[in-house]
This record gives sequence, C-alpha cells and structure tokens, in this order.
Amino acid sequence: MENRILGDTGIKVSELCFGSLTIGPLQANLDITEGAEIISYAFSKGINFIDTAEIYNNYGHIKEALKAVNRKDIVIATKSYSYSNETAEKSLSKALKELGTDYIDIFLLHEQESIHTIRGHYEAIEYFIKAKEKGIIRAVGISTHRIEAVLAANQYREIEVIHPIINKIGIGIQDGNVEDMINALKISYNNGKGIYGMKPLGGGHLIKDVEGAVEFVRKVPYLHSFAMGMQSKDEVDANINLINTRYIPDDIKKRINKKERRLHVADWCIGCGSCVDTCKNDGIHLIDDKAVPDMEKCVLCGYCARKCPEFCIKVI
Ligand code: SF4
Ligand code: SF4
Repeated sequence: MENRILGDTGIKVSELCFGSLTIGPLQANLDITEGAEIISYAFSKGINFIDTAEIYNNYGHIKEALKAVNRKDIVIATKSYSYSNETAEKSLSKALKELGTDYIDIFLLHEQESIHTIRGHYEAIEYFIKAKEKGIIRAVGISTHRIEAVLAANQYREIEVIHPIINKIGIGIQDGNVEDMINALKISYNNGKGIYGMKPLGGGHLIKDVEGAVEFVRKVPYLHSFAMGMQSKDEVDANINLINTRYIPDDIKKRINKKERRLHVADWCIGCGSCVDTCKNDGIHLIDDKAVPDMEKCVLCGYCARKCPEFCIKVI
C-alpha cells in the first residue's frame, strides 16, 4: 500500500485509512477482541492509519490491536467536540488513557461548520497546540461536512489536517456539491494542509458501485488518504483489493453482499422529521421523537439520509 506524507505535518499515512466507526457500538458493535482482530488484520495488510472519535466509543478495541504492533508504526487520528480548555483536557486525557498510548498523532475538532464554529472552539485548539508543544499531539485538525469549514481552516496555520466528507455524488456535503468541495480541497491542499477524506461510499449508499466510488476518491488529487469503514476481515480484503487491483474478487464480494443490510439511525437523532417527510415508502416514522425505520417498507434507497441534517442515517 502506498504511503503519503499528510501535507506539511510530516506524518506518513497509508492511502487507505481504517474508518473505525463501523466496529463500535454505532454500527457492528463488535466486542473488543473481535474488533481488535479486524484492526490487527488491517495493520498486517499495510494499513497504518486509523480514524476514530470520542463518540465512536471504540478506544478499547484500538488499544487491544495496538498491543501487537509497534505504536510508532501506527497513526491514530481521533476527534472530539471539545470547545474549551477543560473539555479539551478531558477529551485528550480520555483518549490517552483508553487508547493506552502516551501521544495522539492527530487530534481533530469534530464536525466543524465554519469560521464561526472554529472561533467558538478556539480555546480547545489552543489547548491542543500546547499539548503538541509537549509532544502529546503531533498535529491538530478539524473534521467537517461543510465546504465553508474546509475553506475557513486556511485562515489558521495551526489547523494542519482536514478530514472532509467527499464522495462521487456529494452525499452528506451540507453546503454545496462535490465540485465545490474539490475546489475547496485544492485551496487547502495547496496551503499544505494534510487532507484525508471520509465516507467515500456516502455512508453505504454507493455500495453497489463500490469500485467506481473508490476510484473517484482516488482520483481526487487533493486527498492524501481516505477513510473507509470496515467491520470484517472480508471488508478489509475487499478494500485492499480495490486499492491494489481496482477489483474485489467474486468470492469476497459474494460473502460481503450476503450480509443482511439495514437502515441504522444513530442515537443523536434530533427528531426533526425531515427523513419521514422525504420517504415515499412510509419506511421511517417518529416514535418518542426519534426516527425509527420500518424495515418491512424501507427499500434502502437512502434518500432520507441525504436529507438528515445530523447525518445520522446509514445503510449498514
Ligand atoms: S432527519 Fe435525521 S435527525 Fe431528523 S428525525 Fe430523521 S434521523 Fe432524526
Ligand atoms: S432508505 Fe429510502 S425507503 Fe428507506 S426510509 Fe429512507 S427514504 Fe424511505
């Protein structure tokens, strides 16, 4: 697997990053041993970069997988919603303790929206910069679903890494289309930002065209790496094959496709009802102010996911 330097950070990452949300309680909910096995398998296949977050609740899985490798060979990116000195200190301590490490390679502010949210979280950024000076963090960054935030990051030299949503049809980009996002990434890339994309399969919606979807992000010249969720060794093999040969062997593909898919609503649903209004199949309802799919009627078209302001619906 090709390794690249993540912008001006000097951090060397594999082209494919292990997106770890999938193994934790928000998706497959694997136990620590099972999850660690899949992560270790990915490491053994040349993936040296893993993306997590405080809310993924899977630091324990990663800690277990780290036991079998040299910590220095692995790049860990995590993120939190911290906004102040105190919340940043809490998030960093939690990550260090639960991951069983004495440094974090990349610490991101989760889901930044614009220059205003970056300003609003600046105390946390300052805390992370001090941690960087002490060698506890190697680089600071943001994750975002918005073009506005990708552009805003250019106003801060201290924001060295951007983790933006990017996929072939622009699912989940909240303030423009995929061309707009690529233009913003070009500016950030040229400013030396390290950029690794998220959701190349649009949260599962491009699964039927996985080859085309992955090829699309690989051709975006402003991405150093991109994170793909994986929740089984077959999915690791499929993704590695896509990178190495642009093709998933039929036997692996069959086993992956055999898995029953369903619509998952994350527990941060705010009950706005936008998904209910969008669905033409009566496939999702509000119950006690939370969206609940009706898998009898849902055809897994994913249209409701595009309309969710919180990006909490996924086909898994
Ligand atoms: S659109 Fe999203 S946030 Fe709104 S009710 Fe549906 S799942 Fe919840
Ligand atoms: S995936 Fe499609 S059919 Fe299923 S609830 Fe969403 S809009 Fe309705």
